[in-house]
Amino acid sequence: MADILPFKPRKASERHRGNTLCRHGHHKWLVDKESVFDVKLGKLVSRYRCARCGQIRIRAD
Ligand SMILES: [Zn+2]
Repeated sequence: MADILPFKPRKASERHRGNTLCRHGHHKWLVDKESVFDVKLGKLVSRYRCARCGQIRIRAD
């Protein structure tokens, strides 16, 4: 008796695999701007941008 497995249909996650990581919170952060003054925080922050989805993150040092 042979086990013949049919090919599984491609998962939706494989089609846009880059954004799958993003949706799980694993962004590819690149430094967008270093040491910019954030008026709201009142101090210097570094701005990061995700290379895949373009999300912006601000980090205060
Ligand atoms: Zn992302």
